[in-house]
Amino acid sequence: MLEESRYYFQKAADVFGLSSKLRDILLSPLRVIKVEIVTEGDDGKLQHHMGYRVQHNRSRGPMKGGLRYHPSVDEAEATALANLMTWKTAVVGVPYGGAKGGVNCDPGELSERELHAITRTFVGQIKEVIGPTLDIPAPDVNTDARIMGWIMDEYSKYSGFSPGVVTGKPVHLFGSEGREEATGRGVMLVLEEVLKDQDKSFSDITVALQGFGNVGSFAAQFMSEKGAKIVAVGDHLGGVSKADGLDVGELISWARAHRTVKGFAGGDAFESADVLTWDADVLVPAALGGVLTGDNASDVRAKIVVEAANGPTTPEADEIFHQRGILVIPDILANAGGVTASYFEWAQNIQQFQWDLDRVRKELATYMRRAYRAVTEMAHQRQLDLRTAAFVLAISRVGEAAMSRALFSEAIDLSR
Ligand code: NAD
Repeated sequence: MLEESRYYFQKAADVFGLSSKLRDILLSPLRVIKVEIVTEGDDGKLQHHMGYRVQHNRSRGPMKGGLRYHPSVDEAEATALANLMTWKTAVVGVPYGGAKGGVNCDPGELSERELHAITRTFVGQIKEVIGPTLDIPAPDVNTDARIMGWIMDEYSKYSGFSPGVVTGKPVHLFGSEGREEATGRGVMLVLEEVLKDQDKSFSDITVALQGFGNVGSFAAQFMSEKGAKIVAVGDHLGGVSKADGLDVGELISWARAHRTVKGFAGGDAFESADVLTWDADVLVPAALGGVLTGDNASDVRAKIVVEAANGPTTPEADEIFHQRGILVIPDILANAGGVTASYFEWAQNIQQFQWDLDRVRKELATYMRRAYRAVTEMAHQRQLDLRTAAFVLAISRVGEAAMSRALFSEAIDLSR
């Protein structure tokens, strides 16, 4: 993933003709933290994990990004994802830089007490470098509102009451209405703008989704409410399809109860991987990175790919989509709804003022539509694909902030 995020950055940097020195500066992280987490397991034996926090760039504000609990977490993965966060916060125009991190543990193997101990120890190890004006973590793979609540509590022990140290908290513990649904809602809002530009509406389209967790299920719900037919959904265990549209409400109830769409009686079963090449107008990868590759991109039948997941398209697949005229809505735009609602949560924490759901949804729509318009304008002006345009926009915003702070002596030519 590190190679791929760098590839997309370099392609956009070529548009500016950025010097190799500035490329190095903009790509390399500001700070990389690796800490040891030693805790006691339920069996009385010591448990040993490594925790990471990569802080990439803070030119536009405090750094922001998720914490993952997964065996794959390491410095390279956190660095790639921290880079993406810098560009994502810039594209959507929230006043943050980028960061990412996590713990290389398998929550499936840990009890609640063990997870709790790991979380509190991790916070103790990084408490000097996180904070409401420094770096604000959020939920990511295998971390949730409950864990964010523990982080807030542990950090507040050292620094006093600090709800703004972390976002994605439970709504009753200084979280925000509408945060949980925000990434899926943002996916729907961006696609709505794409369809408007094509003189279409949701009732004209069929959609296939890979992944039916937080992002996929909310995206499917909001698209279906607008009239789209959700014709196929695949997850880690299997897939279900229905040519005239699945009942998304029933599928959500089934998936919540069984933790998979497999076995849902309201559609026909299929092999999960087939969802990527399903006969649908729109494909929404909302599960893993690197799933659309040089091997399967030629078989994709959708005309629009909306990247709800982080990094689902490899550069080879991206090139094939470009040649085949398939429109790709890049992750740093399409899934930016989550970090945008996190910004609203942080702003509410700082103001000690709670917004209602209606206000969160209205503000989210404003931010997502504005970001989409800015990216498409850049794409038209410079004749770029949407991903390169989004990166150019992001690099110019980060570069402009860095230059205004007089961080660089060498100017970035933003006019080219
Ligand atoms: P989640 O854990 O809630 O759901 C993940 C889904 O992916 C599940 O339905 C799971 O079955 C499916 N999946 C896992 N392995 C699979 C496989 N091999 N084949 C097919 N499906 C598989 O996660 P989420 O929060 O919905 O995140 C999904 C993606 O969106 C991730 O790439 C994440 O980084 C990205 N993202 C999430 C947010 C957010 O706010 N949650 C924000 C931005 C980006």
